[in-house]
Amino acid sequence: MLFRFYIALWVSKLTIPVLRLTRHNGTNFPGEVAMKLCPDFLKYVARPEKIITVTGTDGKTSVSNLICDMLETAGHRVLNNRMGSNINSGVATSMLAGATVFNRPRHDIAVLEVDERSSRRVYPFVHPDLTVITNLFRDSLMRNAHPEFIKSFLDGSFPPDTRLVLNADDLISSGVAPENPRVYFGIEKMDTDVVDCINRLNDLRVCPKCFGELKYEYRRYHHIGRAKCADCGFESPAYDYAGCDVDIKNMSMTVRDGSGSFKYRLLSDSVFNIYNELTAIAVMRELGMEHPAIQRLTEGLKIVESRYKAERVGDVDVIMQMSKDRNPLASSRAFDYVTGKPGKKELLIMMNNLSDEVDWSENVCWLYDCDFEFLADPEVTHVICTGPRARDYYLRLLLAGVPGDRVDCVRNEFDAADKLRFEPGSAVYLLYGADNRSLTMAFNVREKVMSLAKEAAEK
Ligand SMILES: [Zn+2]
Repeated sequence: MLFRFYIALWVSKLTIPVLRLTRHNGTNFPGEVAMKLCPDFLKYVARPEKIITVTGTDGKTSVSNLICDMLETAGHRVLNNRMGSNINSGVATSMLAGATVFNRPRHDIAVLEVDERSSRRVYPFVHPDLTVITNLFRDSLMRNAHPEFIKSFLDGSFPPDTRLVLNADDLISSGVAPENPRVYFGIEKMDTDVVDCINRLNDLRVCPKCFGELKYEYRRYHHIGRAKCADCGFESPAYDYAGCDVDIKNMSMTVRDGSGSFKYRLLSDSVFNIYNELTAIAVMRELGMEHPAIQRLTEGLKIVESRYKAERVGDVDVIMQMSKDRNPLASSRAFDYVTGKPGKKELLIMMNNLSDEVDWSENVCWLYDCDFEFLADPEVTHVICTGPRARDYYLRLLLAGVPGDRVDCVRNEFDAADKLRFEPGSAVYLLYGADNRSLTMAFNVREKVMSLAKEAAEK
């Protein structure tokens, strides 16, 4: 077996310079070759001293990036799969690139983002020391069906000593693999919390233990919050790492754990990113770091530009905001965040709804799980729908109560930019998906939007 492994390691390693020469960077191909030649490749490939994996429906890329950056700043040699993909062959590609030809690790710690669907093909072999599960929500229906289905992939896939870092405010993901050692993080009641669900998506309507009625003490959005079952007493777990006194105005949060309380600077004012930051802090604490040291590591951190980028041109803010298509939760959160900002705004919706692999437009039923109703806010003065599914977005906006005279529908992305009005004092948001095609298109369209904004400012 070992002979077979080394053949797989060497052959797959040889494909890397070949791919580089032919300009095929960042594919899963080397990992695919390795696993074809040796199906147990992940079990034998050299592992750094510690392996941290990050999974969950939303936030896994942001959380992995934060953890990576903090560990690198702390002087660790970190192996990650930022460049490759998060499925098993992508993980294999990163691991084999991180091993020498004699199968020795080049790094002392690995931070790997893992797609939920790859759980059973990754965790038993990679044997993570620590696994973060950010949350579980309804995702792309075509791939992920339902959160309970995804939970079933995670359940039973971890080695018994893998320690889990779980979101106590999510009663779906916090119940994963109950036999594994675990700690919980969560954010205490905030001023903006409610009791009843105002979102279209509510993935947990009954008690996961007895199917009785769940009573929410407070609810942040969707099924996130603290709840208790009126019938069997089942309730949200207590926090090991509690985010409290979240102060958006002064951009600070206190993190309380067994060792006391410590004040942190917030990296972002969106609740989603506050969860991401708290998760990264909890992981650092689990690695044995003290709060003052962690806080120093957060000093230089920021949310990656591909997810959020804001620039002011004259009297108009031009903001790029990732809003994952096919994922009703992520887009609902983005719409809620954008409409919560003061002032008038124009939106260019260019989420293309295309599949990553082929030039194929996915099922659009997710549009009806997503809260487009937020965009009926009177301060959203103009919405332009563009891309292959422009008309589906247009219809959805009308059904959400957005007046038709506020909406334009232009199929070509670059022509769509010409419709922007750049009213002084307003903000222009470019909302785009997370796949590479969306990202490239968004950055190209942004170039045009920036020059149009400059022209408008000079008038
Ligand atoms: Zn119950």
